[in-house]
Amino acid sequence: MYDKYSMVADEFISDDEINATLSYADENKDNAALIKAIIEKAKERKGLDHREASVLLSCDIPELNEEIFNLAGEIKRDFYGDRIVMFAPLYLSNYCVNGCVYCPYHAKNKHIARKKLTQDEIINEVTALQDMGHKRLALETGEDPVNCPIEYVLESIKTIYSIKHKNGAIRRVNVNIAATTVENYRKLKEAGIGTYILFQETYHKKSYLELHPTGPKHDYNYHTEAMDRAMEGGIDDVGCGVLFGLERYRYEFAGLLMHAEHLEAVHGVGPHTISVPRIKHADDIDPDAFDNGIDDDTFLKIIACIRISVPYTGMIISTRESKSVREKALKYGISQISGGSKTSVGGYVEPECEEENSAQFDVSDNRTLDEVVRWLMELGYVPSFCTACYREGRTGDRFMSLCKSGQIQNCCLPNALMTLEEYLIDYAKDETKKIGDKVIREQLELIPNPRTREVATRHIEDIIKGERDFRF
Ligand code: SAM
Repeated sequence: MYDKYSMVADEFISDDEINATLSYADENKDNAALIKAIIEKAKERKGLDHREASVLLSCDIPELNEEIFNLAGEIKRDFYGDRIVMFAPLYLSNYCVNGCVYCPYHAKNKHIARKKLTQDEIINEVTALQDMGHKRLALETGEDPVNCPIEYVLESIKTIYSIKHKNGAIRRVNVNIAATTVENYRKLKEAGIGTYILFQETYHKKSYLELHPTGPKHDYNYHTEAMDRAMEGGIDDVGCGVLFGLERYRYEFAGLLMHAEHLEAVHGVGPHTISVPRIKHADDIDPDAFDNGIDDDTFLKIIACIRISVPYTGMIISTRESKSVREKALKYGISQISGGSKTSVGGYVEPECEEENSAQFDVSDNRTLDEVVRWLMELGYVPSFCTACYREGRTGDRFMSLCKSGQIQNCCLPNALMTLEEYLIDYAKDETKKIGDKVIREQLELIPNPRTREVATRHIEDIIKGERDFRF
């Protein structure tokens, strides 16, 4: 039975409810009156439930699809302005005891190079990331209680926060590690992590069990209930996602929104972010072996419909996607992107040769961080290296109330501009700096509160003089 308040995975992600939702969406895919009514409701910017959103995703009427995309773009601009938050993944270890059939880290893969960074190697990787200009990382590991226990992850987080190289600093460490216990989530919280990210991979239980045939990750309920344990452990920023390509996308979309509704119902706060990875080629993984791959247009429609359905939830796209797909995705909902990423263990210091490959998947966007920053500004965006919310304790529902009170332009925009100024001075190439100076001048004028504008302008001058790390 479907119950969003239940703490049992099969009840808050009910297969029956998803199937009923898909039938309802199918029956109404040409129902212009209903679709228009849902679009009108979405214009209130309070989100949609999984049934309403699924009708929009199935909508077959071209003019209404155009309206859906336009509305997603408007909501994106209303809530996030022009800011795009920057981050990079850091792969600590690719030892893994699981058997995930889509991931080259699966335990049976004997030819992938297995690596785990020592604390000294972490210092080198993080120094390289700081020298690129990164301030925010997403830690990635395989699941291996012996080679990669929680103590190793905790020690690594401590090391990362302690590294101060030139003007560099990692100010927010997000963590994407396997589902774990409340006690371990509490330890991660105490270590000062930002968001705990865990992709569901697929919400379809039967497929999940087949795609994760061996290892602890086989336990669908334990995996699906992980966000509840994380919240019980005190982590109130969690990041959800599915790996598109494993199951039918409409099923995953409904499941993802039901998961968000469950977190909101039980904990009073939905996911902080949603990621939209698609399966990529990797060491012994061929994405074409999976039947449910989606084309770019469908991918963008999913992004637009998520944007409309959960306006307050940040959306993340990685370098799995190409420059051109990322450009369109930014328009319809994405608010965070990675840049200059390496998906191999130790890849920031030493690019790998083919025989020594430890990468999790092939990267489609191989540009440097500076190239991505410049490109974003040329498109009219403001790349942001801000980490203020989490450091000011504005997590969970406190962050959501900042969004809901419409104060983003008075808080997040100045923070974005100040951190962009730091980037321009410390790391940017001349051409990037030239464009960036213009962007900052123009965007300062868009800060609504005159007092905030004045303080931000002064801090930017202080940054030019050599001071660092201001925040609202
Ligand atoms: N090991 C952790 C777990 O059990 O959830 C998560 C970390 S894993 C390094 C990060 C994510 O990469 C996975 O959750 C999966 O969705 C994604 N991934 C795995 N193989 C992939 C592939 N071939 N292409 C694209 N993404 C992949």
